[in-house]
Amino acid sequence: MVRQDPLNGSSENNCVQPIYRGSTYFFKSTEEVIQYQEEKVKLDRYGRYSNPNWASVEKRICGMEHGEDTLIFSSGMNAISTTLIALLEFGDSIIFTENCYRNTRFFLSSVLAKMGIKAIPINSSNTSSDFIKSFESCYQKFKSKAVFLEMPCNPHLYLIDLEKIEEIVDDETVIIVDSTLASPHNFTPLDFGADIVVQSCTKYICGHGDAMAGSISGSQDLVDRVRLYRNVMGGIADPHCASLLSRSLETFSLRMEHYNRAGLEVAQYLESSPHVKRVFYTGLDSHPHSDLARTYLTGHGGVISFELNADFDSTAQFIDCLKLPFMGSNFGVNVAMIEQCSIFTYHQYSEAERQKLQIADSLIRFSIGNEEAHSLIGDIQSALAKVFGVNP
Ligand SMILES: *Cc1c(COP(=O)(O)O)cnc(C)c1O
Repeated sequence: MVRQDPLNGSSENNCVQPIYRGSTYFFKSTEEVIQYQEEKVKLDRYGRYSNPNWASVEKRICGMEHGEDTLIFSSGMNAISTTLIALLEFGDSIIFTENCYRNTRFFLSSVLAKMGIKAIPINSSNTSSDFIKSFESCYQKFKSKAVFLEMPCNPHLYLIDLEKIEEIVDDETVIIVDSTLASPHNFTPLDFGADIVVQSCTKYICGHGDAMAGSISGSQDLVDRVRLYRNVMGGIADPHCASLLSRSLETFSLRMEHYNRAGLEVAQYLESSPHVKRVFYTGLDSHPHSDLARTYLTGHGGVISFELNADFDSTAQFIDCLKLPFMGSNFGVNVAMIEQCSIFTYHQYSEAERQKLQIADSLIRFSIGNEEAHSLIGDIQSALAKVFGVNP
């Protein structure tokens, strides 16, 4: 028999699931309401609690993350903030990787502080054993209720020995991993002892730069605890956004395979150029955590950070000479994007803060899109030739 199940879990005979815009659902009888309340039937009730378009996306992300259940949110930041507010209480503490997405750092250190929750940063640029040592002493001192690891981290792609963290902490401590920079295609933290994995679906999972969403996946118990807060706080994805994510998931692994292949080629080219001082890409042996990469990652994605052998102005000039990438800060979209980190994401930071986070004047974050590696390399080659005056 030919295929008859709709691609995205529709109950009708569309190949593609329709968009369910409704905010309100009805019950056929009082009997059905009672069955619903006693959890004997699963029905939708109100648009802030559930939606068929979310459900399809959640099911597919859950399968990729190897979780028991998944929730999607209006953005990655909403997934993170709702999860932490759900799981932490006044007086608790959380240990986190200081090298992480700027807004996550702000939420952890400034917003949670207002609620009497202490966030303790640990720098993840250190060697793996130094990180574990600092982590162990912090954990023994604070007995933190949660750990938040961005892995790989922004923008240097540092990694953490997750299995060691899992050995150190008690069963009650929740380990949360934001693996947006790897995506579930390249890294499944739940298999290595994480309790919750976070994605900014805005990046690789959407992949087209036209939707914003976030997700968390984990055990049924933890996901249900967070669901209660999503129901109340209302950080929900629009049904149309969920439909776009379903579209994106159809090509997700194809796109990731392309990013992994082209990313490695571009990173290898950059490493071979005399005008490039350092490349941060977990697929290269020169990455400080390439040993951890071999344990945890099955591919290395499309984000490459590198420093030029150049000052601030020549770095800016190099970027201005490129023809293919858009200048801006996003990754995992259909087009290449480039940013000079010190004037984009880290512009408001002081010199000292930038130094602490290793944001050199010549640090560039480059993320590839659907372009072929040879086109991107050709573009980089000619921009380098323009700035440095020689054929690289
Ligand atoms: C972009 C990003 C976020 C935030 O996601 P939004 O969808 O932009 O809210 C969180 N973590 C990481 C690692 C990110 O790159």
